[in-house]
Amino acid sequence: MLDENYKKQLETWDKAYLWHPFTQMQDYIKETPLIIKEGNGIYLKDINGKEYIDGVSSMWCNIHGHRNKEIDDAIKKQLDKVAHTTLLGPSNIPAIELARKIAEIMPQGLNKIFYSDNGSTANEVALKMAFQYWRHKGVKNKTQFVALQYGYHGDTIGTMNIGGIELFCNAFRPLYFKTHLAPAPYCYRCPFGKDKNSCMLRCLETLETILKENAEHVAAMIMEPLIQAAGGMITHPEGYLGGVQSLCKKYNILLILDEVLTGFGRTGKMFACLHENVIPDIITISKGINGGYMPLAVTVAKDEIYNTFLGEYSSFKTFFHGHTYTGNPLGCAAALASIQLFEKNLIIENLKPKISHLHERLKTFESLEHVGDIRQCGLIAAIELVKDKTTKEAYPFEERIGIRVCFEARKHGLLIRPLGHIIVIMPPLIIKNEELDRMLDIIYNSIKTVTNK
Ligand code: PLP
Repeated sequence: MLDENYKKQLETWDKAYLWHPFTQMQDYIKETPLIIKEGNGIYLKDINGKEYIDGVSSMWCNIHGHRNKEIDDAIKKQLDKVAHTTLLGPSNIPAIELARKIAEIMPQGLNKIFYSDNGSTANEVALKMAFQYWRHKGVKNKTQFVALQYGYHGDTIGTMNIGGIELFCNAFRPLYFKTHLAPAPYCYRCPFGKDKNSCMLRCLETLETILKENAEHVAAMIMEPLIQAAGGMITHPEGYLGGVQSLCKKYNILLILDEVLTGFGRTGKMFACLHENVIPDIITISKGINGGYMPLAVTVAKDEIYNTFLGEYSSFKTFFHGHTYTGNPLGCAAALASIQLFEKNLIIENLKPKISHLHERLKTFESLEHVGDIRQCGLIAAIELVKDKTTKEAYPFEERIGIRVCFEARKHGLLIRPLGHIIVIMPPLIIKNEELDRMLDIIYNSIKTVTNK
């Protein structure tokens, strides 16, 4: 156990020196901070010895649990060789092995692996590749992008530019290049007032209008396949992704799929695009790539895109992009071990009964007075809380309803993080049904307690 004085010191220093992401620090410093000391499997333990289920997968990236022996060993083994060397010039063994492995598990034709270190950079890279691809082909006017409302692709200037969450992006609008936002297929609050059982994917019509009118100027469309995560866990109706791909092909626009969250099993298949047999031009992956161990991201491009960057040294076709920790050997060694675990432990196959179990259990939430919508995509679920179920009236922002539910859950040993008034369920993929039950019981009771106050 940690010494009491040291614990107090940590709390003081946390408030004095740390600026937490996406956190109103004025509120944060009024509370006792939760400081994690260690983890094991799906559990995390704080400095006071209290244990929590990691229901947020340490920001949606943990797959095989914490302190997984195989991944730990792979990192330690690599550490005995070298921790970091650059890919700017030389190569390294784990980066090569992993690139080959990723090309093997990717949909056909996606063979060129470009490393970076987080989801935002993977998407920045994708935008730059798409933009330059057209330039290299002699098409100079394709300088714009299409993205979805409520879409989220990261926090760098470039990725905020293609982001559709006003709360995060609006302050920076003056810095942006031209992006067309198409309506999101947010069925619970359909922008066209339709019902998803009879709408015939009306939202694709508007997307088609946008693509058609701007085809000459649009380099690529970027979207999160099947589920728009940070925008509210908006699950797409069946056929939407396939429809987008057909439209992009029709109007000669590249398709970039941001699988930063959906990659590596979250949706029930290795990659979300496999659900609709869609093969995009570029895929970005990060979070689950090495089981959620360390910063690593990949932008995977089709050979055709890569080939346009080939040319004489003096032709300036080089892709002028690279980060210091690109292809870091420790991160790549962890990723190789994680992918091996998928194969050895049949992670994808074992997900099916868990996904069904989650589906059944979620039905019990329907009766709660303030649960407006329940959405699920694989082992991801979201519960949208509303002030009034009949009118779908949202809770006012100031009520911090999601935060209050999550604080209540924390008291009972569950760590989750809301998206505004939406409660997110995103456990590590190795969670067992009994643990899922415990997690859902805590969420159910926390919603009841907080919304009945
Ligand atoms: N893309 C998607 C779909 C995400 O969910 C996220 C993060 O939540 C990102 C990109 C950004 O990733 P990072 O936080 O690693 O920059």
